[in-house]
Amino acid sequence: MSTPLQKELQTEAAKRRTFAIISHPDAGKTTLTEKLLLFGGAIRLAGTVKGRKVGKYATSDWMEIEKQRGISVTSSVMQFDYLGHKVNILDTPGHQDFSEDTYRTLTAADSAVMLIDVAKGVEAQTIKLFQVCRMRGIPIFTFINKLDREGRDPFELLEELEQVLGIRSYPMNWPIGMGKRFCGVYDRQRTQLELFQGDDHKQVAVRKVEGYEDQVIKEIAGEHLYEQLGQEMELLDVAGDPFDYEKVMRGELTPVFFGSAVNNFGVQTFLENFLELAPAPEPRKNSQGEMIEPTKENFSGYVFKIQANMNPAHRDRIAFLRIVSGKFQRGMSVKHVRAGKEIKLSQPQQFLAQDRDIVEEAYPGDIIGLFDPGIFRIGDSLSQKEEIVFDELPTFSPEIFAKVTVKNALKHKQYQKGIDQLTEEGTIQVFRTTGAFDDTILGVVGQLQFEVFEHRMKAEYGVDIQLQRLGFQFARWIIDEKIDPSRFRINSQLVTDKKGNYVALFESEYALRSAMEKNPTAQFLTNAP
Ligand code: GDP
Repeated sequence: MSTPLQKELQTEAAKRRTFAIISHPDAGKTTLTEKLLLFGGAIRLAGTVKGRKVGKYATSDWMEIEKQRGISVTSSVMQFDYLGHKVNILDTPGHQDFSEDTYRTLTAADSAVMLIDVAKGVEAQTIKLFQVCRMRGIPIFTFINKLDREGRDPFELLEELEQVLGIRSYPMNWPIGMGKRFCGVYDRQRTQLELFQGDDHKQVAVRKVEGYEDQVIKEIAGEHLYEQLGQEMELLDVAGDPFDYEKVMRGELTPVFFGSAVNNFGVQTFLENFLELAPAPEPRKNSQGEMIEPTKENFSGYVFKIQANMNPAHRDRIAFLRIVSGKFQRGMSVKHVRAGKEIKLSQPQQFLAQDRDIVEEAYPGDIIGLFDPGIFRIGDSLSQKEEIVFDELPTFSPEIFAKVTVKNALKHKQYQKGIDQLTEEGTIQVFRTTGAFDDTILGVVGQLQFEVFEHRMKAEYGVDIQLQRLGFQFARWIIDEKIDPSRFRINSQLVTDKKGNYVALFESEYALRSAMEKNPTAQFLTNAP
């Protein structure tokens, strides 16, 4: 017998879809996000997704860097309603805005949409983000974008998904022509055509057909494209994977959609299929390995990201919390487990661009922003009545390194305090050299983190620092009975982390491999043990 609250949680959770869009810069993520928001009627938000036009559209003007660049430094969350669903999109910044936050945000998503440019295929950033999704085993949906432009052969792209990412695919629809000759797509499931038409190609017409051999297609697309479609569909039917829902749920098979975001072509079909197939909020594991289900009555959640200084006037910070179970109600008291304190959640916010609405209620799958007077850390768990601690969020091996020094030696104390506190937040790793000089090296996953760090050292600690980029690309924690530092001298450097563990930094894959050969008894870990 379930209680009324459990029933409510069940209904509300079932409506929700919380996902992130992963892509390489320029694939069209902003454009796709805008179109999705438009379907949800959240029209006033279109254009605010990424503050391209600084001032008028900037999502959050909390930091100078952000203003200068016209980007949103940290990922934000957007919610909209569509066909009875509550959709939560987690924005993951890419490119030079890439940072640890991008990865962490993925831990709050239940599925991902992988956006690929038809001309470019799988790109570097896509690979990185895909790997994090893969690690979590979440379902991944693929949207191949810009079909209105000449691009690569669809089969070649599917092949690339498999070769580069190791994921098999199931095309939900198939393009008829491409670029100037792009007619539209053939929907395999519903056996219908979606036509790309009108003078400006902005109109979409749907035409029911008998199958891909229907003569109607010949009339519309012409003999050549009709035959090509026939051949390609036959090949897919024979050589392609069958649709397998379980495999999709395990992230082993990705449903693929073709379209053109900027023309709003194929976006609606994509959204509807996605909402139908994508999972509702999933349970999360607690530190004892038990699954905390969304329908558990006691509220629980974890902080996956902290955004500092969102409002420079108040110097406040916002902690983003993913709700795992129970119902959130404004003003409720919860346990802050790590701090061993009871706290009241009185000013929670939901993020709709500029208007940060105060949330009264929220359910599993939702993300709320909590006002943070400095009491939260990434990975903190909040829970009602009982103590629930969620599994630690993964940390990611740094790939970019810089030596840090203080410009004014008299400020050494503040400098040290800043380094200690800011690296405590967990997104920047700090190392010390082991040789004759006692240097401090910082390691991050995205260049932007250095800029944010530099800015915060100045703004919050009054310290000017100098960062000197180093040529290392990999960090490996070395576990060995006896470490011989002399074996880490070529294109690499041995340092220690905060806890005194040995870490070797390498300039190249080659340097890493040769160190592994020279130290056969050592273990090389990508993260701290
Ligand atoms: P993001 O960096 O992934 O957020 O990419 P944007 O959404 O900013 O898009 C990058 C560029 O690609 C912009 O100039 C868009 O207008 C363009 N773009 C997006 N979708 C399409 C599409 O379907 N077709 C074409 N031709 N261009 C597109």
